[in-house]
Amino acid sequence: MPELKPGHVLLRVKACGVCRTDLHILEGELPPLHDHIIPGHQIVGEVVAGPGIPAGTRVGVSWLGGTDGTCPYCHRGEENLCDAPIYTGYSVDGGYAEFALARADFTVPLPGTLDDLGTAPLLCAGIIGFRSLRVAGVQKGERVGLFGFGASAHLALPILKHWNCEVYVSTRGQSHRKLARDLGADWVGEERDRPPVALDRAVTFAPSGDVVVAALSSLRKGGIVAVNAIHLDRMPQFDYALLWGERQIRSVANMTRADARDFLGLAAEIKVRPRVTVFSLEQANDALLAVKNDAIDGAAVIVP
Ligand SMILES: [Zn+2]
Ligand SMILES: [Zn+2]
Repeated sequence: MPELKPGHVLLRVKACGVCRTDLHILEGELPPLHDHIIPGHQIVGEVVAGPGIPAGTRVGVSWLGGTDGTCPYCHRGEENLCDAPIYTGYSVDGGYAEFALARADFTVPLPGTLDDLGTAPLLCAGIIGFRSLRVAGVQKGERVGLFGFGASAHLALPILKHWNCEVYVSTRGQSHRKLARDLGADWVGEERDRPPVALDRAVTFAPSGDVVVAALSSLRKGGIVAVNAIHLDRMPQFDYALLWGERQIRSVANMTRADARDFLGLAAEIKVRPRVTVFSLEQANDALLAVKNDAIDGAAVIVP
């Protein structure tokens, strides 16, 4: 049971989504910040105690658990780039637990329309997938490629269809391809298949630099590929001709509270429903392994 601190709320965890970032932390691909850490940064919790939010209120906690509010990036409104950030489940304990502590000003109000299981995957996979579409500069009606089709991509797809975009999905795994088709993708191919048209925008979700280059080589002139990954195996050398023509590669770093608010509002409005596989807290390692092996269609969620 975490001890309540000033400015924080104590939450009873109702559900916590499993993210590939949890794997990168536990497998040391992101440098460890503590001897031990409770992972989990997609927390749906019920307030037990704390300032400003009535007990019993349901709130969300995401990856961005706090900022200093004083650095140049915070002043520019780019709190996702804060110089002194707090990351839930990485720099502080997260939601693979029965109770969790969160900074009150970084909890997210949740729409009442979605249940706990359906909300948890929205809190990182959904929000950062949405931010990726913003970073890629997606405009309504454009041709957008999704490279990899895990939890985040399967939540970005309905947003793109809502914006009347044509969606092209390249992914490994037959069941991932089936899910993409079921959710309305206009074209679905295997991991190394090139979409049949030049793309306006692309988002890569796999932790692989080769996939970034594949996405780049699918863009029209002036197109943008957004890399939705906190860790890549490596960035391979590639021919400058792929980047020529004012094509851009942009990384997607973290999220802002505005991204969270905007995405959750839109998700509620258009009734985004994640495909969820439930694990108990005791099965947390099985859930992580399933994410590692791409064995989940949609998102894994832990329910303590
Ligand atoms: Zn800052
Ligand atoms: Zn995440």
